[in-house]
Amino acid sequence: MSITYDRHFIGGEWVAPSTPNVIEVFSASTGEHIGSVPGSGNSDVDAAVEAARRAFDDPHGWAHWAPERRATAIDSLAHELEIRNDEMARRVSMQNGMPISIAERPTGGFPAIYLRYVAGLLRSAQLEVERPHLLGGTTIVRKEPIGVVAAIAPWNQPQILASLKYAPAIAAGCTVVLKPSPETVLDSMLFAEAVAASDVPDGVVNVIPGGRETGAYLVSHRDIDKVTFTGSTAAGRSIAEVCGRLLRPVSLELGGKSAAIVLDDADLDLERISDDLFDATLRNNGQTCFLSTRILAPRSRYDEVVDTLCDFARSLKVGDALDPSTQIGPMVSSAHRDRVEGYMAKGSSDGARLVTGGGRPKGLEQGWFVEPTVFADVSNGAAIAQEEIFGPVLSIIVYDTIDDAVRIANDSHFGLGGTVWTTDATRGMDVARRVQTGTIGINRYSVDPGAPFGGVKGSGIGRELGPGSLDPYQQLKSIYT
Ligand code: NAD
Repeated sequence: MSITYDRHFIGGEWVAPSTPNVIEVFSASTGEHIGSVPGSGNSDVDAAVEAARRAFDDPHGWAHWAPERRATAIDSLAHELEIRNDEMARRVSMQNGMPISIAERPTGGFPAIYLRYVAGLLRSAQLEVERPHLLGGTTIVRKEPIGVVAAIAPWNQPQILASLKYAPAIAAGCTVVLKPSPETVLDSMLFAEAVAASDVPDGVVNVIPGGRETGAYLVSHRDIDKVTFTGSTAAGRSIAEVCGRLLRPVSLELGGKSAAIVLDDADLDLERISDDLFDATLRNNGQTCFLSTRILAPRSRYDEVVDTLCDFARSLKVGDALDPSTQIGPMVSSAHRDRVEGYMAKGSSDGARLVTGGGRPKGLEQGWFVEPTVFADVSNGAAIAQEEIFGPVLSIIVYDTIDDAVRIANDSHFGLGGTVWTTDATRGMDVARRVQTGTIGINRYSVDPGAPFGGVKGSGIGRELGPGSLDPYQQLKSIYT
């Protein structure tokens, strides 16, 4: 059954689009047409920004609500998302190929958990403090919402990544125009339904589905006060340039090519480690920004690491994303599969040794599938070690000493995630401290909504999540009395 929308969610209403453009959506697993959503023209962006501006500027509106009232409305949105959890997971899974077992739990659950977390931060926030003025008298320092926020999300974890933006923004008192990726619009419309059913007032959250041009027009719109973007490093650079010229605050969560540093005392027993290894390296078909896809293996145990990863990749069940037993689903689109296959070909032509995979799985000709793939004997300078593939492809690189391993891990344009594998917690911490990255795990990688998340170098600017979640959406004002 096709999921069809013919209206946008702007200003709390379902309004007819200004353009006849339609975004057609296809199942990543079967190639079948599964729905359509109206695209957005510049007039739709104008209408969404205007609605957000009106809601923000209302002298009795959202930005001026007492914290408890705003937090209660945010809790109601969490509830509306929870009751749509199963359908949300199904839509995400069909569109981007995320295995339903992954989509159901984190994708459905995370936004609601995070909304309740930011509501809690708002309830306990000190929005105004009085301090002694250093030259005499007092100064009142206020945290004020920054204004109208343009939030741009990618397709790979569309609902989680959108929530990392709209949740803290609205908790801070801002209003939001959310632009989802054209690959994942059906879930964004279900999100809009949840907003419509919640106590969040009209115009506080607006959704305009569209592609790169829609995003670019939104970023430079005169009535936007802050841009928050998650996506590729290339797009992030171009958005940063525009925001730099406009002196517009911008947060950037970009790509990654993280390292798994396997120490010589690591446990390599797949019976014990395969779940954690999967979450850290190949989760969501490799279509996840923080995955440790460069495996740094000590020379003393190199062959053992290669054999373990080969067995691990071959053990994974590849199949339709909606099948609960599937571990590796398809790539999001045929074009993205071509890109991943291009890297597989480049790995071999650059001299790496293909250990397993490298092709398309048999019997799954309808969707955009590739086999879980492992390359060994990879040079850290090779394209498959330096560039983000965003597919189920692991590259094994040998190292001699721990200093060597840390140097190779840090020899990257990116710095988003990473892992250390060891049975010695002290050694694990020592190495984790030395890696230039925004986040790193020891023997597992599990993002904590209560701790800051983000990247260094080409992986971005700023942090999301954690106790400072609201900061990027607030500005400080000092009132001298
Ligand atoms: P993308 O950069 O192509 O697109 C991301 C979003 O930005 C989409 O909505 C797109 O329409 C929009 N967009 C693209 N160019 C734009 C421009 N110039 N101006 C305004 N909007 C623009 O990325 P993608 O392929 O959708 O997502 C995959 C990328 O996202 C990977 O590089 C991945 O690492 C990254 N990512 C990063 C994080 C993180 O937290 N650091 C999380 C998930 C994904």
